[in-house]
Amino acid sequence: MELLTAVLGGVLGTFTQNLMYMAAFAVVFSALTIFDSQACNPGKPWWKGRDLVTDILFSVAYEFINPLLRIIAITMFMVILFGLSGGADVTQFFQEGHGPLSSAPFWAQVAFYLLASDLLLYGSHRLFHGRRLWAFHAVHHSPVDLDWTASYRTHPINRLFGPTSVTLIMMMLGVPPAVMTFLVPFDLIMGAWVHSNLNWTLGPLKYVIATPVFHRWHHTGIDEGGEKNFAPTFAFIDVLFGTFYMPEGKLPSNYGVDDKNYPTDILNQMIVPFIKFRNSFKPKKKKAVVAEGPDTPAGGA
Ligand SMILES: [Zn+2]
Ligand SMILES: [Zn+2]
Repeated sequence: MELLTAVLGGVLGTFTQNLMYMAAFAVVFSALTIFDSQACNPGKPWWKGRDLVTDILFSVAYEFINPLLRIIAITMFMVILFGLSGGADVTQFFQEGHGPLSSAPFWAQVAFYLLASDLLLYGSHRLFHGRRLWAFHAVHHSPVDLDWTASYRTHPINRLFGPTSVTLIMMMLGVPPAVMTFLVPFDLIMGAWVHSNLNWTLGPLKYVIATPVFHRWHHTGIDEGGEKNFAPTFAFIDVLFGTFYMPEGKLPSNYGVDDKNYPTDILNQMIVPFIKFRNSFKPKKKKAVVAEGPDTPAGGA
């Protein structure tokens, strides 16, 4: 019962926290639109974006699969897996973790989590750009007026085999849930920041950390530079794997998937990926090849 109360409290807490962060992002990015010189694509305030309604609906759906809830759910799974029963055991697991890295100092765990999770997410992101999984990832690439609100637009299957799987792997390695919850605000801020309509590159740090220009290039079509810049946080991972793309003196401008008929509403964006995924296993007829042309990864997340 104590555990249930704690979980319910955690769930309510995460809703409140997410709403507070969204409100803060709305205020900060609204204020920044005053400075047209700072925009990557001037004259496009986020609140006028054609994708806003769907993004907002995705942010509501996100409330049910947000990072804190994910950590709570996986923590509960691990509690059952390890057969922990008493409140003290669960608290100890939350604070210290269970596994090879559980005895490492807090800041070493933080550093390991940041680097290792980014590497794993880089890998899963590249897999989702493959022919079959693209159906699920295209949802994230669908906004044409890209802005911070797009950070919430991700298909649940993409979340499951991306961030959720990575959280599970990190916990199995002994990274304590406490380290992950500590980093949730960082994740939320990074997500909103890299999708924001800013022309910031952070000078030479552009090779180290993901910036709005870095990630906005990822959302362009292949012919414009898409299919590059896969890392969520550390741009140097793309430098290491040869997928870094930030041309000097140019800024990205065209976003979305190369399919004029791609659904724009949340309901179809939830369902259509499953149909496209199933269709990807059907043998291709000659006619179908032409018809399915636009479904290939045209944009970059
Ligand atoms: Zn993205
Ligand atoms: Zn992508």
